[in-house]
Amino acid sequence: MNASVSVPSLFNLRPEAERAPTSGIVDVFNYGRNREGLIPLWVGEGDLPTPSFICDAATRSLAAGETFYTYQRGIPELRQALSRYHERVYGQPVDPERFFVTSGGMPAMQIAVRMVAGTGDDVLIPTPAWPNFAGAITVAGARPVGVPMIFGQNGWNLDLEGFEKAVTPHTRAILINSPANPTGWTATPADLRAILEFARRHGLWIVADEIYGRFIYDPALTVNGRAPSFRDVMTPDDRIIFVQTFSKNWAMTGWRLGWLEAPPALGQTIENLIQYQSSGTPVFVQRAGIAALEQGEDFVAHQIERARTGREIVGRLTETGLVDLPPPSGAFYAFFKVKGGTSSQEIAIRLIEEANVGLAPGSAFGEAGEGYLRLCYARKASDLEEAVCRINAALPKISG
Ligand code: PMP
Repeated sequence: MNASVSVPSLFNLRPEAERAPTSGIVDVFNYGRNREGLIPLWVGEGDLPTPSFICDAATRSLAAGETFYTYQRGIPELRQALSRYHERVYGQPVDPERFFVTSGGMPAMQIAVRMVAGTGDDVLIPTPAWPNFAGAITVAGARPVGVPMIFGQNGWNLDLEGFEKAVTPHTRAILINSPANPTGWTATPADLRAILEFARRHGLWIVADEIYGRFIYDPALTVNGRAPSFRDVMTPDDRIIFVQTFSKNWAMTGWRLGWLEAPPALGQTIENLIQYQSSGTPVFVQRAGIAALEQGEDFVAHQIERARTGREIVGRLTETGLVDLPPPSGAFYAFFKVKGGTSSQEIAIRLIEEANVGLAPGSAFGEAGEGYLRLCYARKASDLEEAVCRINAALPKISG
């Protein structure tokens, strides 16, 4: 994967810092920023604010004076609430000692990667992929190795043979994001078993990002209302670290609250890494997290229903015959190819000009994403209907 150099070597910085890739969405975003009437579907978040019962829990905590340093691993009440939440959603009891609270999904990812890979190590990632995976691996000093997924009539599929070919003595881990940003690909139980078997055979860690696990649309892939998970096929001692976040399910992107789940034996190491990263997540933010887990199911269901409607609306992009968009199985993104289009950056700019709609260029998700555009449909139906109308009207001018 190409981690482009973003800062000239003027300042003699650590190469890993200099190599940190610049977000490929930024140029398009800067081009369209502040445009009157632009419908912004480029960022990975919904349009609903955090529900008030969650905000109130934070306010009560602040009013009660919970403004001091706290447990590095997270307050016991939140770790217990996470254990109850997992039991409810995944149908098996989970030891609270497996949970570690972080200041967001991204910091959880940073810690997971730093535990398993550093200088000289490779980490495999199926691509197209959320660019922050390659970013986290690069700044840790390791090398992201993209393994392109196979795109066919039924959407994206994992290239298991590609993994076998890409693995070397330097490979330390494999990062699996299912349901995936940006493609919506969702692993089947058979995929998960095959990846686990591959990882066990080569002694690799799995970093499992299942943050979109509640957003699943394909009934054939739905297990108790959620996507298949590694926890359905693993044993507690498998080398798997889960990365999770409150950002999407509970509309909390701005709160910076997430968690890691890992074998309890890693507890002291994770605690140390949290100490040197954030020194713990604010207690009032964690209290909000407890409210989300304990009282948030209706809100999560509402978000999923909205996304389901959004997914149907954006499916109408195919009516033009000018895009390839197999229905995404999970997450809340449409990742579509414009027929005859070449540079996704150029198409994204043209769509700002012609349709006043902001989409993320597929090239931001690695070479395998070139030619595609990502649209986030976690938004109110009227915005999505308008956006699809405008894109469909503009496409004949843009498609080659
Ligand atoms: N994983 C994936 C696949 C994501 O799309 C995101 C956010 N876009 C995250 C992790 C991180 O979420 P956050 O840092 O907002 O908690």
